[in-house]
Amino acid sequence: MPLVERPSSFVFPRRLGAAVPTVERAEGAVVWDRSGKRYLDGSGGALVVNIGHGRREVAEAMAAQAAAAAYVHGTQFTSAVLEEYARRLAVHAPGDCNRLYLVSGGSEANETAVKMARAYHLALGQTSRHKVVHRSVSYHGNTLATLALSGRPNLRAPYEPLLPSAPEAMAPFCYHCPLGRAYPECGVACVEDLEAVILREGPETVAAYIAEPIIGASAGAAVPPEDYARRAREICDRHGVLYVADEVMTGFGRTGRWFATEWSGVVPDIMTCGKGMSGGYMPVGAVLAGERVASALTRSPGGFVHGFTFSHNPVTAAACLATLDVLENEGLVERAAVMGEKAMARLRALGAHPHVGDVRGRGLMIGVELVADKESRRPFPRAEGRAEALGAEAFRRGLVTYPGGGGASGRDGDVVMLAPPFVVTEAELDEAAAILDGSLSALGL
Ligand code: PLP
Repeated sequence: MPLVERPSSFVFPRRLGAAVPTVERAEGAVVWDRSGKRYLDGSGGALVVNIGHGRREVAEAMAAQAAAAAYVHGTQFTSAVLEEYARRLAVHAPGDCNRLYLVSGGSEANETAVKMARAYHLALGQTSRHKVVHRSVSYHGNTLATLALSGRPNLRAPYEPLLPSAPEAMAPFCYHCPLGRAYPECGVACVEDLEAVILREGPETVAAYIAEPIIGASAGAAVPPEDYARRAREICDRHGVLYVADEVMTGFGRTGRWFATEWSGVVPDIMTCGKGMSGGYMPVGAVLAGERVASALTRSPGGFVHGFTFSHNPVTAAACLATLDVLENEGLVERAAVMGEKAMARLRALGAHPHVGDVRGRGLMIGVELVADKESRRPFPRAEGRAEALGAEAFRRGLVTYPGGGGASGRDGDVVMLAPPFVVTEAELDEAAAILDGSLSALGL
């Protein structure tokens, strides 16, 4: 008989070959592992923990809803908690983009949005409209359809044969401007590429344009000029293309406003959310459809052919409603704006390190970019894993960050994101900055 080694864990790990500590408990902006080691959660996990860890009121609201009615199928029942949540969220949603379709994650939300855009055009009899334009540096999810809409060559590479091709427009990533220009002299020329792509594809074939208001993990909190979004909105309107704002990372106060589209004043036709929506207390995603889309689908005989077993879930709605209460009652969105400035002031000082090329972001969504050469902004080869090395060193010293990148030159580029819970204190910001400072020095970065 062949000897089969018994594995030490039956969990298929999130990252193969890398042992991670076992969490014991978490409170505010701090996580402790089972050995008693303390970590400052400098990134709220993957920019999820907006209201902070250990909120009993959220846990209690979830438990009460689970005891009352944990699950009903969305085609069979609605729930008071879901109805109330949708009503309360509508107050904060941009414009009329407020009809809530609750799902279980950001990728599910974007899949839903894409199908909704297609269904909208079918409802209008525009049957040839099916393409979705995305941007060259972007991330919209890890399912096959949303990966196909993500400008992340490194994540796509193994699955390329499975991914449908999708039109790609230039990303407004100013630090690595695709046109080699600088704002404001550039006149935001990159946005013209969106129109060129729509015209090249044939506007009658394009259903939607999807964009993160601030480019998240792929670029590390790259903030486009506000006129970019406004002009992109005009281009979409000119060609009958729906504007989808992916607020999965930026939504629910992360940038110091309820939604990052508020910075430009653009009202999307469809908005997607996730992450901070439940603060991590439940897996969640959502689509918010504007009146135009919602009413077209409601009137259409074809309706909206879609659905997930766990959509419209009452316990998820309870977690989200309790999270919304905390955000509102404690003024945490405003706090994210204030603490964001304090964080930025501290982190900008890291620019003195020889390989910190840029520190950017908005609110408590901050990216620190590492470059091989500051003058030319040339990135390190991705294979060197500089961002991961910095993340690992900071983790060892007790600071959780969110390393990523790849957006600087197609495949290369290193960013480490800082995005603590909104309850983070000034002392904790000092601690985060000091740990990063020490980690950069230790690695010669
Ligand atoms: N969209 C954006 C902008 C994201 O940052 C993410 C996740 O990082 C997603 C979509 C996918 O969300 P999820 O991982 O919950 O599926």
